[in-house]
Amino acid sequence: MTLQHGASLRNADPEIASLVDQEVERQRHGLELIASENFASRAVLEAMATAINNKYAEGYPGRRYYGGCEVVDEVERLAIRRATDLFGAEHANVQPHSGAQANFAAFMAVLPPGGKLLAMALPHGGHLSHGSPVNHSGMIWNAVHYGVDPTSGLIDYDAVRAQALEEKPGLIVAGGSAYSRVIDFAAFRAIADEVGAVFLVDMAHFAGLVAGGVYPSPVPHAHVVTSTTHKTLRGPRGGLILCGEDLAKTIDRSVFPGHQGGPLEHVVTAKAVAFREASTDDFRAYTRQIVANAKALAARLMEHGLAIVSGGTDTHLMLVDLRSRDLTGKVAEALLGQAGITVNKNTVPDDPQSPFVTSGIRLGTSALTTRGMAESEMRRIADLIDRALGGADDDALAAIRAEVKELTDGFPLYENIPSGEGAAVA
Ligand SMILES: *Cc1c(COP(=O)(O)O)cnc(C)c1O
Repeated sequence: MTLQHGASLRNADPEIASLVDQEVERQRHGLELIASENFASRAVLEAMATAINNKYAEGYPGRRYYGGCEVVDEVERLAIRRATDLFGAEHANVQPHSGAQANFAAFMAVLPPGGKLLAMALPHGGHLSHGSPVNHSGMIWNAVHYGVDPTSGLIDYDAVRAQALEEKPGLIVAGGSAYSRVIDFAAFRAIADEVGAVFLVDMAHFAGLVAGGVYPSPVPHAHVVTSTTHKTLRGPRGGLILCGEDLAKTIDRSVFPGHQGGPLEHVVTAKAVAFREASTDDFRAYTRQIVANAKALAARLMEHGLAIVSGGTDTHLMLVDLRSRDLTGKVAEALLGQAGITVNKNTVPDDPQSPFVTSGIRLGTSALTTRGMAESEMRRIADLIDRALGGADDDALAAIRAEVKELTDGFPLYENIPSGEGAAVA
């Protein structure tokens, strides 16, 4: 063993340690409004930075291809039990490395290559992994897409049904990355049953809201539910698949050996910690506040004359349509970035701009709610956004940035984690 093997990150690699510090500082002093991001707890971060990283564990608890799995078997069993308890599911696979991997493995389990799937269109709020032509899912399966009603911004279930009857897909997918309203899972299931399709819900974005009881659960309605674990669920970056006992073996085989190699057991460890956190009253209160914050932010932005797709939100996220301000999403993202407000440009339904330019921005409140911010901060943030988008020059943007700094200083992040020592977060 070399001397370096026992050194802390700071001593072993000051260059990378300093970049880690810079990123923690960036997270501390910016207003994080990216809807897919969150701040995982110290316990979740610690669980990932352990020697469980070292263990190869291809297979499943009790059925591994490697020796020495007795401890990780217990970890993974606990993660599975916590996931099934949290979501009221019969079976959970906690091994998918990410949301996209979870989708690929789940699609492959229920739809043969060349089969047809019907999912929400990416420019209307769907996800790349739901059959976009640039994603492998769109090359392997014959993907057709439904959109939202252009006036209401809502899913039109009659239109989805008509399309399903016409297209006869083998798989229907609900859930996306930029749809801010409650999805009627029972309506989707009825359509799937009518055409003999498997019904899959991708709850990547709203899984935490389901866990917290502020968004309807897809589990009683869907044959398969996929998710990420790092968005509203606030765990480590990763994926999750839930299903009934009838599909358990097929799903498990599709994840491994079908799609992935060795599971990231250190991440599975952190998933177990996150599932435990998500089952607490604190987390339920947290998710209630996320939604209250999103509603407050949307209402104030609308008071400033900004258009919100569908006229509001039922979740953590909203889509701001900037066309009335004569701004593109690309320009708005850059202006807000200069002001210390982090958002992402996003297409709006029937967007005339390309996905690299877009006419909208997507905002989400899960990360700032983790910091303890509430409705009054949301209103202040809406005011700052309005100012930044209202023709602010460099000086005005710098002034907003100073206000952002003052605001974030009032809501410390990771303050119990020493950043001058060790790996900043471990
Ligand atoms: C984020 C997201 C994914 C992909 O998750 P990754 O972990 O980034 O692969 C899949 N589906 C939906 C709906 C998402 O929002």
